[in-house]
Amino acid sequence: MQMNIFLNVVLPIPLERLFTYQISEEEASLVRPGMRVAVPFGKNKIYTALAIEVHYEPPVAYEAKPIHQILDDQPIVSDIQIEHWLWIANYYMCTLGEVFRTAVPSALLLESETVILPNQYFTSDEDDLSDDEFLVMEALSNRGALKVDDIISILEKKTVLPVLNSLVAKNGIVLKEELVQQYKPKMLRYVSLAEIYKEETRLQDLLDELSRAPKQIQAVLALFQLQSQTKDPVLMSSLRKESRVSPGVIKSLLDKEILEEFSLRSDRISYGTQSRSADSVQLNAEQTSALKQIKEYFDHDKVTLLHGVTSSGKTEIYVKLISELVKLNKQVLYLLPEIALTTQLIQRLQSYFGEQIAVYHSRYNLQERVEVWNHVLESGNKARVIVGARSALFLPYKDLGLIIVDEEHETSYKQFDPAPRYHARDAAVVLAKMHGAQILLGSATPSIESYYNSRQGKYGYTELKRRYGNVLMPEIQLVDLKKLARKKMLKGHFSQQLIELIHETLEMGEQVILFQNRRGYAPILECTTCGHSPGCPNCDVSLTYHRFRNQLRCHYCGHHTDVPISCEACGNQTLDTKGLGTQQVEDEVRELFPGAKVGRMDFDTTRGKHSYSKIINAFEQQEIDILVGTQMLTKGLDFRHVNLVGIMNADTLLNFPDFRAHERSYQMLTQVAGRAGRTEKRGKVIVQTYNPYHQILQQVSSGDYEAMFQEQLYEREQYHYPPHNRIIRITFRHKDYNKLNEAAEWFTRSLRNEFGTSVLGPEYPPVPRIRNQYLKNVLIKISNQASLSKTKNGIKRIEKSFNAISQYKAVRIIYDVDYI
Ligand code: ADP
Ligand code: ZN
Repeated sequence: MQMNIFLNVVLPIPLERLFTYQISEEEASLVRPGMRVAVPFGKNKIYTALAIEVHYEPPVAYEAKPIHQILDDQPIVSDIQIEHWLWIANYYMCTLGEVFRTAVPSALLLESETVILPNQYFTSDEDDLSDDEFLVMEALSNRGALKVDDIISILEKKTVLPVLNSLVAKNGIVLKEELVQQYKPKMLRYVSLAEIYKEETRLQDLLDELSRAPKQIQAVLALFQLQSQTKDPVLMSSLRKESRVSPGVIKSLLDKEILEEFSLRSDRISYGTQSRSADSVQLNAEQTSALKQIKEYFDHDKVTLLHGVTSSGKTEIYVKLISELVKLNKQVLYLLPEIALTTQLIQRLQSYFGEQIAVYHSRYNLQERVEVWNHVLESGNKARVIVGARSALFLPYKDLGLIIVDEEHETSYKQFDPAPRYHARDAAVVLAKMHGAQILLGSATPSIESYYNSRQGKYGYTELKRRYGNVLMPEIQLVDLKKLARKKMLKGHFSQQLIELIHETLEMGEQVILFQNRRGYAPILECTTCGHSPGCPNCDVSLTYHRFRNQLRCHYCGHHTDVPISCEACGNQTLDTKGLGTQQVEDEVRELFPGAKVGRMDFDTTRGKHSYSKIINAFEQQEIDILVGTQMLTKGLDFRHVNLVGIMNADTLLNFPDFRAHERSYQMLTQVAGRAGRTEKRGKVIVQTYNPYHQILQQVSSGDYEAMFQEQLYEREQYHYPPHNRIIRITFRHKDYNKLNEAAEWFTRSLRNEFGTSVLGPEYPPVPRIRNQYLKNVLIKISNQASLSKTKNGIKRIEKSFNAISQYKAVRIIYDVDYI
């Protein structure tokens, strides 16, 4: 009797289990874990799934369908990756499918619902396309957009994903979701002589070889001519124009592999600009000893924390470590918070490592992400060092030797939405262990958790206490706004001290950064008669006033309206602004310093793809004297001429209702202050506040991290927060207020039965309704001594009984483990 063979796969959807399909004997001999397979699902869906395991057990609850086909010759996902994804799914209480979906670029996960569009910058010749590919391109140029199903009927076959995958690789098509990102890279085609003919001595051989093809000689000489004129790569179009030969001539040179062609994005940071060697960097004594200590910890396979004040030269230490690993042909992952991935840093790294550096983050388009994915998979010389945001954790590393997590305290390392709600730093520690790689966490203001781990001896620890080149730490001065307000000594929101220092700084030809952690003009518009302030109809939150467009906007759902003339509650024309946002700071600056060039950097001015780096460049080039901004300014930027940082109002940070508010204020203020005086002159920082005696501000101004740590640790211990405890937050979400309350009560009662007083809530979050959905949170605190997995199993059991209650079915449950 013939054995039935089955394949377990993971689908890119939030299914709890693996799904089982039937495969033929031949397929069983070809498929390996980590290869993609196209599978039917439901009535008429097709998904790209990932093969996990071949076996002989038919599924119990359903009839296994056959797969459509295997999509890869080689696994594109490694065993370690799958193991790591399983860890994430298990630890962060989500499904493997959700991790899979996040981990793999969607261009590698085509499915029946994917909408495909022609790439308008596609420049390839028709002869580069197979018959099927040609048909698809033709259909697309007639109809504009097609679903995978349409293509199935056009090609009259079931198995079209390989054709589409190949068109993705050739840049012929783009996916609709990519256009939603409004990303239209311009692809240009370039041509060069094949590597072996690049030496001058080989040229004569080549010309001899081609002696019976004068047209081809003509093309080769034209290319030589063009190359001698510029150092940049030569465009295919210029070669066509200059050589005046037909496309067929160039094509036959390409076929003979005398010429090579390649595509580059026109706006791409150019590769191959290696200009110095990491060996030439001379570390100073403090850096040398830190590096030595780090290596000693690494010898004992310890996670290590590098605590170095701003501008102490942490990056140069990373460079040394990276270069040693690269020489051993190991891969390196350099993780950064999304927003710290600036051209500044990338150029610096490229100057050391040239094309060995690749960048991976969400602002890059799908094709580029696929390209990096493939380079990492090949584990060649390209993309040996990945610089990326948290998603770079999911690349198919073969031989990872080192992970650096820079700015490890940054809360944006935690994914908030959607699942997996993972912390990239913590998941990196696990990944490093799986690879037997070393891991270094770096920060000027370590997270309480990491510092605590080093105190406990769990992590290695080393410090850089001085700025590189003996540059002094900035001098921080606290200014009492309450006193000044009482004496009516404020101009707008500016103290006299700040105004004077700005004048002085500008006169010296230096630059100023002004920090206010709120965008918009003023947080709210309030009626001075009745106290009413206009709220969002979809979310329970006041609307923010944006003066530039004269609008009120919701920062949660994007809802916006024109500013009303009179109060909607009492009808009086007594609406006034309350609070302070970046726009208002900018306006006041323009008024107070009419001669200065002013710029603003916040979420509103950096929406466009390049606007972020444009502002940074303009500031670097000193085309801006005073830069006003939100926390975007705090992230690892290295400006040479900033001598003054003004914090407009420190209180909004301190008063945030969260147990991490004080830690975060310390970090944010210290990081912004660290932008001041990064060269010889000692920088100045003015912190304006209504609470100058607040302990956090005292600790920031004296740079006393240790005091901050001890105090926070004590408080966290009192209230059972991390690092002594772990927390899981459960959010309930539903559009019906009453149903949500009932459901949350039911669930919490069951939790209390099992876990007692460590369950807090349910409570409404600060914004209890977002996009017309009500929210309620429950916190579970789990002591470090208790078993986290037992707790999670308990929660899952309760969820099962909960889901069995029909009226609660539609209530969404969201788990956030180690929530931030
Ligand atoms: P951090 O990452 O700690 O903020 P950086 O690595 O950016 O600090 O160093 C601050 C500045 O000092 C940079 O301009 C950097 O080029 C310079 N620097 C640091 N270490 C060295 C070194 N060993 N030799 C030369 N310049 C250095
Ligand atoms: Zn809203």
